[in-house]
Amino acid sequence: MAANLAAPQELNVYENAEARFEVAAKKLGLEEGLYRYLKYPNKEITIYIPISMDSGHLEVFIGYRVLHSTVRGPGKGGIRFAPDVTLDEIRALASWMTWKCAVVNIPFGGAKGGIICDPGKLSKSELERLTRRYTAELSEWLGPERDVPAPDVGTGEQTMAWVMDTYAMHVRQATTAVVTGKPIELGGSAGRREATGRGVMMCCDKAIEKLGLKRGDCRVVVQGFGNVGSMAALLMNLAGYKIIGFADVHGGLYNEKGFDVPKAIDWVYNQRRPLADFPAGGAKMPANEILFQPCEIAIPAAIENQITTKNAARVQARILCEGANGPTTWQADSILDGKGVFTIPDILGNAGGVTVSYFEWVQDRQGFFWRESEVNDRLQDVMEHSFDEVVRYAETHGVNNRIAAYMLAIDRVARALKLRGIYA
Ligand code: NAD
Repeated sequence: MAANLAAPQELNVYENAEARFEVAAKKLGLEEGLYRYLKYPNKEITIYIPISMDSGHLEVFIGYRVLHSTVRGPGKGGIRFAPDVTLDEIRALASWMTWKCAVVNIPFGGAKGGIICDPGKLSKSELERLTRRYTAELSEWLGPERDVPAPDVGTGEQTMAWVMDTYAMHVRQATTAVVTGKPIELGGSAGRREATGRGVMMCCDKAIEKLGLKRGDCRVVVQGFGNVGSMAALLMNLAGYKIIGFADVHGGLYNEKGFDVPKAIDWVYNQRRPLADFPAGGAKMPANEILFQPCEIAIPAAIENQITTKNAARVQARILCEGANGPTTWQADSILDGKGVFTIPDILGNAGGVTVSYFEWVQDRQGFFWRESEVNDRLQDVMEHSFDEVVRYAETHGVNNRIAAYMLAIDRVARALKLRGIYA
């Protein structure tokens, strides 16, 4: 194995999720029975999805949906289309959804889905057939009161529109609240597209206030230029932060002078050019390297396992705000703690997305839609309150922010479980 790669077990996201759960559960003194109940997912579904490809041949794709918990409400969690999807990854992501919804105290459980495929290599009609067959196979498990998917890596508003339509055809009534992250025209919420990035910024605002920094003095690097990364970079740039590095899957660009993010977004999304070729000067580098450049704030907003035992010591940021799920391995946490990095863990840092998804679900069910300013105000309320709760919990219990967030979440779910009792 190459010297700069972490050991395989460090990179197993399910083991990462479990390790944090174990530490937090022990600190909480969680009863043995509740511990066992919350450790395992509630349900795991594997689907073999036959699709007629455009070329005429029949292909079979493998898809998953994992319901980790419905203790506090319906399952909630995205659908990921990526070539390296595994059941372990979906399990981990489903459990993170349970803890995330509990951290921000919204009435959902946790779920996640995925299909092993490379969406970049499939045509639009192949993607549509794949999404519809996956949804059809899951139709009796999904529903506004059962399990509510959303977009994740490799899926977006159009995917959610297909999920909604397929589900509606099966239950024979329009059911907008079965998915969130839909197009506005189909019952999506104003502000949902920006919500995860906006939540990232709100957490950074709170963190810099705590550390006595000002937006204008903060240099920011962002890894990932999709929904979360590009929106976080854009909103933070417009708010006065200096975005000096960004990266997508093809590579990164670093320029101490700072970037004009609206122009970079136009370059990537309208002109369809590679981000690393953005003509604003600066040094090109591999995507992962961007996180280790001099800066005040580093935002991983791409994929898992970017900060590991092999590179955590190289983090120069004072604040690490996790826009992605699972970007830091649990073994790297103590290295970051030792360096005094103020970490905003994923289950808080990227919770803006699911919070506005919750608002979308509420609006769909009441059939009455809010102005974007109302959505953003309510989001700010949730994010600031949750940030304060996590930081207070960390200080009270003498743990880092990540373990504090897990403890807060596990405690909430365990209390709800105790009140419900075990149906037998
Ligand atoms: P996306 O598909 O819109 O964008 C992913 C971005 O990451 C792209 O720019 C891609 O080029 C880049 N990328 C992929 N592999 C990379 C690599 N190896 N190195 C560097 N960059 C790479 O996905 P997204 O919705 O922005 O999600 C990003 C992360 O945020 C995921 O971990 C996801 O689970 C998490 N998340 C997303 C939301 C949401 O609302 N979309 C909410 C919470 C958490």
